[in-house]
Amino acid sequence: MKHILWGLAVGILLVSVGFAQSTAPTKATGLPRIAIAGLGIESSTFSPAVTNEDAFHARYGPEVYNAYPFMMPVSPLRKQAIWLPAIVGKSLPGGAVTREAYESLVNKTLDSLKKYGPYDGLYFDIHGAMSVVGLDDPEGDFLTRIRHVVGYKTLISTSMDLHGNVSWRLAQNSDLITCYRMAPHEDAMQTKERAVVNLLERLKSGKGKPAYKAWIPVPILLPGEKTSTRIEPGKSLYSNVEPIADHGNGIIDAAIWIGYAWADEPRNHAVVMVTGDDKAKVGQAAEKLARDFWTVRNQFGFVAPTGTLEKCLTDALASKKHPFFISDTGDNPTAGGAGDVTWTLTQILARPEFQRADGPSLIYASIPDPELVKKAMAAGVGGSVEGVAGARVDARFAPPVKLKGTVESIVKGDKDAEVEVVVKVGSVHVIVTQKRKPYHKEIDFTRLNLAPRTADIVVVKIGYLEPELYAMQADWIMALTPGGVNQDLARLPYKRIKRPMFPFDTNMKQPDLSAQFVPLSGAAK
Ligand SMILES: [Zn+2]
Repeated sequence: MKHILWGLAVGILLVSVGFAQSTAPTKATGLPRIAIAGLGIESSTFSPAVTNEDAFHARYGPEVYNAYPFMMPVSPLRKQAIWLPAIVGKSLPGGAVTREAYESLVNKTLDSLKKYGPYDGLYFDIHGAMSVVGLDDPEGDFLTRIRHVVGYKTLISTSMDLHGNVSWRLAQNSDLITCYRMAPHEDAMQTKERAVVNLLERLKSGKGKPAYKAWIPVPILLPGEKTSTRIEPGKSLYSNVEPIADHGNGIIDAAIWIGYAWADEPRNHAVVMVTGDDKAKVGQAAEKLARDFWTVRNQFGFVAPTGTLEKCLTDALASKKHPFFISDTGDNPTAGGAGDVTWTLTQILARPEFQRADGPSLIYASIPDPELVKKAMAAGVGGSVEGVAGARVDARFAPPVKLKGTVESIVKGDKDAEVEVVVKVGSVHVIVTQKRKPYHKEIDFTRLNLAPRTADIVVVKIGYLEPELYAMQADWIMALTPGGVNQDLARLPYKRIKRPMFPFDTNMKQPDLSAQFVPLSGAAK
């Protein structure tokens, strides 16, 4: 039912699209003029993969509304401003973005912003962990260039992923800034909506820019798999954010960024920010959150038991609990892994237990390889296929894996994968995709005629399990496998992050966690 209503709403929205931007806004309406722009990706600089422009699936002009359920024509928010959407692009995590792709998307955004100005406000929708080849702090660069076009009077509200990084210049050029309060990010859309609501409220009330923005760098760098808000200490730490942010007494918003661990820049570390009009309250709230974070730093552990792949497989085979999930964490495409590392699948297929078709059933999600997909399509469902797959981008840990088996299904049309095939090798159902795709939902499997609930073992390239998979697992171990997002951070060759940094440097002194007030956008640094 929900889906039908949603379909209708999208239909209405698409019909209205043609009119949205051509209704020339005038000052007479009294409504604020608000632009929307942003690019979202987290990209690992420890992966040989690169990300091109098409990976962002950029939405232009009125198509941008489709990214936000709260911006549907029927929504109250939509009626409160003259919206002037420029470009919003969101890519799956990956390797560093090419300079060409970045410049192209930024320049298209700036051209659009030049066309439809002036603006009272701008909603800046970013992830915050984009790496671009040869450029530091891309989001800070992007927003600085936006400021050169829209000017410094425009109120800019930035929303981010809590795994993003907040540089000083990103903080300065943003007037309002916030991030998710949940990992997994079940509050992603709520956070974006809050950023828009706060922007509108400041514009409509005439209060404008918040008088104070407190920024505190916290010298901690941890992987997302240790900082889920489902468990302690992340749970309690993040539960303090909303009460601080939303009591409306001089504080507008508060946020804690864990930061992104698989890039190597000075901005990669945790940050706390609080915005508002009451200097003392803003500063004290930020200092409390930063202090709380530092105090619990030693309590962060992996969200599930971890082990070598060998141990995980042995435990899963011996267990009575099924489906037994194993996260293949090192090449997690939703953290920035290339997604085509074959090391884990190679080890699985070599195990004697899985050689026979009637052995313990294991679903492996997934390995991208366009050539093998082509072969499977030629063979057809039920046909035999033989070839190699993966390791076209990241062959550092294992060569392409040999697959010889029966084609069980062929499904076309997924936005990310484009074509997905299932090849059964021994008792292993291997999902092979044309392009890389994360497998986060039950339907990702059932669409392919796979039954994860009745499988003995399900191995997914993922870190912590997304909610639907988490609800499905009877047991779960995270395998610490090699790849571009190796969870064992101590093994990563950091050269440029600030030091000392927890947990890499032992015996760290108490850091200075006093609030630094960021000058208003447009003011001298
Ligand atoms: Zn995230």
